[in-house]
Amino acid sequence: MATIDKEFEEKHQKGEVQDVKYIRELNEFWDAYMFALINEIYVGIGINLGLTSKEAYRLAKNKPGKLEKADFFSSVFDKFKKVFNYKIPKFRIEKKLYNKGEPLTPKQWDKFNKTIDDYWKKNTEKITEDMAVKGFFLGKETTDYRREKKPYKNKSLYQVEFDQYGGKMPESLSQVYKQYDFKTAEKRALNTSFSNIATEVTKTNNEIKEAIRQQIQTGIDNNKTSVQIASDLYWEVQKNQNLVNKYTSEALRKNWYRISTTETASVYEAGLLSGYIDEAMESLKDPSRAQYFVFTGGSCKWCLAHQGSLVRLVPAEIVTDTTRDSLKSMGIKDPNTDIAVWPGKNNIGFKETKNVHEWRVCTPAHPYNVATLSPINLETQVYNPKTDRVEERQKKEKYIPQQVDYSFKSPQEVEDRKPVYLESGLVRYNNNIYEAVEPQQYKQKKEEWLNNPQLPIPVDKNSTDYKAIFGNAKRV
Ligand SMILES: [Zn+2]
Repeated sequence: MATIDKEFEEKHQKGEVQDVKYIRELNEFWDAYMFALINEIYVGIGINLGLTSKEAYRLAKNKPGKLEKADFFSSVFDKFKKVFNYKIPKFRIEKKLYNKGEPLTPKQWDKFNKTIDDYWKKNTEKITEDMAVKGFFLGKETTDYRREKKPYKNKSLYQVEFDQYGGKMPESLSQVYKQYDFKTAEKRALNTSFSNIATEVTKTNNEIKEAIRQQIQTGIDNNKTSVQIASDLYWEVQKNQNLVNKYTSEALRKNWYRISTTETASVYEAGLLSGYIDEAMESLKDPSRAQYFVFTGGSCKWCLAHQGSLVRLVPAEIVTDTTRDSLKSMGIKDPNTDIAVWPGKNNIGFKETKNVHEWRVCTPAHPYNVATLSPINLETQVYNPKTDRVEERQKKEKYIPQQVDYSFKSPQEVEDRKPVYLESGLVRYNNNIYEAVEPQQYKQKKEEWLNNPQLPIPVDKNSTDYKAIFGNAKRV
């Protein structure tokens, strides 16, 4: 991905949130799933090093200060159980990694690496393809909703899956190419996005192996007990920032969050642009068919400075040099803009610092970025910098009715939206997960939740909300 500095990274982890619910939810699930997987590997290692399984799971889930709820994973998995059916199998290693301070031989490390590789591959392959495919289709859905001028931002993943695909949204490339008449350009866009994502998943596998190896090696070198090493694996962040910090499960998790956020946005935006491939093709011969977009959204200085930038879509086939995005360089003279975009355009390898300004207008433009390209018809629409939105040109005396959310709810969805108690004592209601908290705890819980919107939403036991949600919840 585009190069960014540390400070930028910290600021953006919380700053950028997708405002389209279904793509936000796809990212939420993927982030939780992969973190649960990383966690399970660390638990397996902890047990191997001598922790009891109870200790290992507790350590993995309870970071002092930034408490990850013990039922965090199950609440996310439960929220999406009608959409995804992935399970996290146990990860255990037979051979002891720590042998009275004796370092493992290269052969033993090879065997250990293979165990992780196998587990990782087995449990990431299918879901990676699924996320790429769904992300791409969700982008296409957004394009359809926008064309039909239907409200879409509050639709849940569940709603799109069941209302648009009868509960059978595609999950693999072979299925897509069998069932859908994809144009070559669309196939290429989806395949490229998928392969970018798969590369990141493999990189994470290597980082996990490297992280565990480094921690165990460092622990043996410093005569630590196996239990100390196990504990360091999770949360040792104070000493030796540069080395150790990078290798904790917490650091890997943060890293994964960046990847899933950026890559989900990337495949989604590629799908979104693919919905206009016909226009882009035709516009090469007939300029009146040109499809324009404006860059909207994002929250950093760079994004704010680029909001409203006008770009024109071209088919990826005519882009012979992806480092150049000038329409002129492609032989296209356009009176409105000289910036070209194409499905899959990105800033990988482009720098942006105080002195170097290389980032181009594309979505995502940088890691964590949730900016989107909003289609604009230059004849009938204008970009409003105050709202950062494309709006219809005002016609005098014309009454413009307020947009109504016509989102259709199937009987199944209506049923699913009723409050219901989960095993953990939490309540699922309206596709959200709620937790009842004592009044004196409420402020702190709310703070935690604001910092991490993936935690259950706290509800004060003395509030009327509590009665409405928990009082009406069914026990199943
Ligand atoms: Zn930005």
